[in-house]
Amino acid sequence: MPGMQVDPPAGGPGQSACCHSLVRTLRDPLTLLLGRSSALDKLFADDDLKAMLPKMDNATEESMGDLSNPMVMRTYYSRLLPWKAMFLWLNQSYVPTRQFTHREFAFTLQNEAYLRYQSFAGADELKQEVLRLNPSRFEIGPMYSGRPKDRKALMKAAFRPMTRELVFDIDMTDYDSVRTCCKDKKMCSRCWKFITVAVKVLDEILRSDFGFRHILWVYSGRRGIHAWISDPAALQMTDEQRSAIVRYIDIVKGYTTMEKRMALHRPLHPTVERAYETCLRSAFANVVLKDQDCWKTDPHQWEQVLGLIPDKENVAELLKKFPASSTAPSIDRFKDLRKAHTRATPKQVERHDQAVQDLQIQYMYPRIDTEVSRKLNHLLKAPFCIHPGTGKVCVPILASQIDSFDPDTVPTVGKLLLELEELSRRGDTAADWGKTSLRPYVELFERHAEAVAKEKAREVKAAKAMSMEF
Ligand SMILES: [Zn+2]
Repeated sequence: MPGMQVDPPAGGPGQSACCHSLVRTLRDPLTLLLGRSSALDKLFADDDLKAMLPKMDNATEESMGDLSNPMVMRTYYSRLLPWKAMFLWLNQSYVPTRQFTHREFAFTLQNEAYLRYQSFAGADELKQEVLRLNPSRFEIGPMYSGRPKDRKALMKAAFRPMTRELVFDIDMTDYDSVRTCCKDKKMCSRCWKFITVAVKVLDEILRSDFGFRHILWVYSGRRGIHAWISDPAALQMTDEQRSAIVRYIDIVKGYTTMEKRMALHRPLHPTVERAYETCLRSAFANVVLKDQDCWKTDPHQWEQVLGLIPDKENVAELLKKFPASSTAPSIDRFKDLRKAHTRATPKQVERHDQAVQDLQIQYMYPRIDTEVSRKLNHLLKAPFCIHPGTGKVCVPILASQIDSFDPDTVPTVGKLLLELEELSRRGDTAADWGKTSLRPYVELFERHAEAVAKEKAREVKAAKAMSMEF
């Protein structure tokens, strides 16, 4: 979390019209902090924004994506980020409601200062303020009982979080103990498969067990993924209800290092059984045994796995056949591991089979960052932000297309700005996301936001009909 806490600008973003921006600047204590020049005010005029691009003699994806140049993010925000769809998705209606006007936004500025409790009257005002502050990224929080920017004028009891999307965060960090291809901040299409499997299983749980329909998955820009659930029932959930859902899902809590066995009750919970049969069993074979070849590549994992098997006599035999120095592929070891109960009683066979099934589930079941989901007032990075480390756009994806999603092909801000530059050279100086490789992601987002708004309208209509009856 960025360190320095800064109070919101005095008066906050008031009237959104451009002519007020100079007045706002004069009374704004952040002006000095941001080192803003009056020349920037000119950028607020819409006509100038359309043609805005960082000036480069020799534009390349790299130079256009140089995040130390403030014009890079400013151009991205002014011409590419889909503000209207963002507004509709959060507001759930075409007319501004408290879902948007009372919603907290938090900005991480270029100097890492962190600006909380920002709120806006609509999409245009949010966009203007983002252009003015030019944050490196911004986060979205809950809808409060009062407008976040007015919170100091409100009684404490009158300012509390009311609703927000139910969110989940899956991060590669939680797979560091099992993936063998990359370490630390690195990630590739091979270890991404762990995330792919987690998305499929979690999406199925959310739809089948909880009945959620409006789930947006958003790539976090480096090595993780977020889920935002916008169903009315999800928005209304209390902290306790969110925690209960987390407990239902987070069965691998404390077992991710593979040091101790996650001993599941039998018969398996129907959710775990379904995940195992439809996805985890085959994913374990493909990812752990074949692709990552975990036990050959990382002998320590092989020893850990043998430690999870109850019959020590059989474990000793397996270790003799496949010692730490063995070059035998994991798939061969697993064949032996599965039938390592030949001289056992039926009860021992059952226990052994269960231990083998448990370890497959332990490897592949979704590993979620539980703190993100538990609290109504948790802030989470907005879709379509740029990851400051990779320059990649945090693009939305459908769980049904997760198999074909390749994080390496996600557009970077440099690539998108270069596309705008090329369009501009051909005379099209007003192009927006629609003519760039961001287009399929924005269209997906728009469709999602429209479906969310439709559902909300249905709900409002049904509530009205109910109240007429009484
Ligand atoms: Zn990798």
